[in-house]
Amino acid sequence: MGKQHNRSVTKLLTPLHSLKQGNWFKLICGASFQHLPAVRSLTLAYTLAGADCIDVAADPAVIAAVQEALTVAQGLASEAEKRGFSFQGSLPLLMVSLNDGEDPHFRKAEFNSSHCPTDCPRPCERICPAQAIVFNDTKDINNQTNSFSGIIADKCYGCGRCVPVCPYGMIFTSSHVSTPGVIAPLVMSTGIDAIEIHTKVGRLADFQRLWASIAPWTDKLKVIAISCNDGEGLIDYLESIYNLISSSCSDLIWQTDGRSMSGDIGDGTTIATIKLGQKVLAANLPGYVQLAGGTNSYTVPKLKAMRLLRGWGDGEMGRWGEKITPHSALRTPHSIAGVAYGSYARVLLSPIFEQLENQEVSSIGFKASVSLEEKPELLWQAVELAHSLVDQIKSQSQ
Ligand code: SF4
Ligand code: SF4
Repeated sequence: MGKQHNRSVTKLLTPLHSLKQGNWFKLICGASFQHLPAVRSLTLAYTLAGADCIDVAADPAVIAAVQEALTVAQGLASEAEKRGFSFQGSLPLLMVSLNDGEDPHFRKAEFNSSHCPTDCPRPCERICPAQAIVFNDTKDINNQTNSFSGIIADKCYGCGRCVPVCPYGMIFTSSHVSTPGVIAPLVMSTGIDAIEIHTKVGRLADFQRLWASIAPWTDKLKVIAISCNDGEGLIDYLESIYNLISSSCSDLIWQTDGRSMSGDIGDGTTIATIKLGQKVLAANLPGYVQLAGGTNSYTVPKLKAMRLLRGWGDGEMGRWGEKITPHSALRTPHSIAGVAYGSYARVLLSPIFEQLENQEVSSIGFKASVSLEEKPELLWQAVELAHSLVDQIKSQSQ
């Protein structure tokens, strides 16, 4: 890793500072991406590379995987610093994506205990962090004998840890569907920092319903993001949304979703999101504007060339007052606060994750996942690659 000294050094700043400075980097793991080992590895690599926000599916198991990765990252902060990465322990915000229109999926584990060999030492029972796996010879905390053996669905949050430990491959996970109004309170109580609501022009009633279901928690959030594609009447729609949510104290981001999930296709996909970003900037809505959908390694150079990034040669830094209101209108129009990367960021690291998956074999012959940090060489290669993307917006020199 002889290139370490060539990395640009960025100051330790909190995610909210990054928004204000216009160099906010968000990793999108994907609103329906629930592959827990991949979510965990992506979170770890991009956190150590200096990401400001990790955006994940509204699934308690996914949230738990991210929280675990953040804890691991904290423990690796000094190693990251030694290797020349700017991460020094200031964790990215954990953002959960909710959709106001479609029903979200979340997973639960299942198995039929009547098929378990009687001499199985039941590693599943020991590994479950939620005590969701019970056998009818166990007693609950009230000393009552359980008449049920298997997984108590209400307790299972789908972390998946029991799946690889079963020597007989008996345990599987399946997706469950819930309405946004039901899943929202479930995820809001998991200690997340931010939410993103995915909406579409014309869905104000749906948005309103979802907003009402999360209202009890919104004051605890640092950031609320609204993600929307282009459409006829977009600006009027976003203004209506702003009127609905303006009393919230959180910072507000307008995520302009140019060409969803296409950033890995080619350079040109970024043009749609930049155009949409310009359109929303021109509307001068209170809050920050952040790009997504079609973003890739071409996005930041293009933004810099178009002088659309705050602080990029336009003398805008320092215009913030001492007291910055949540949705401050002090922000200067025509500057993008940050960029979110989804498919491009994931594909960038896929060669490393493939190597990791090839090592997923346990000593007794069935697959078990290997954590990225257990393979330091792969971990730091992944961080190096992630940093090459993060650094595009963090770097103050072209
Ligand atoms: S997925 Fe398995 S280990 Fe995880 S909570 Fe559910 S039963 Fe427990
Ligand atoms: S590890 Fe597998 S076989 Fe053993 S008790 Fe658990 S589910 Fe049954």
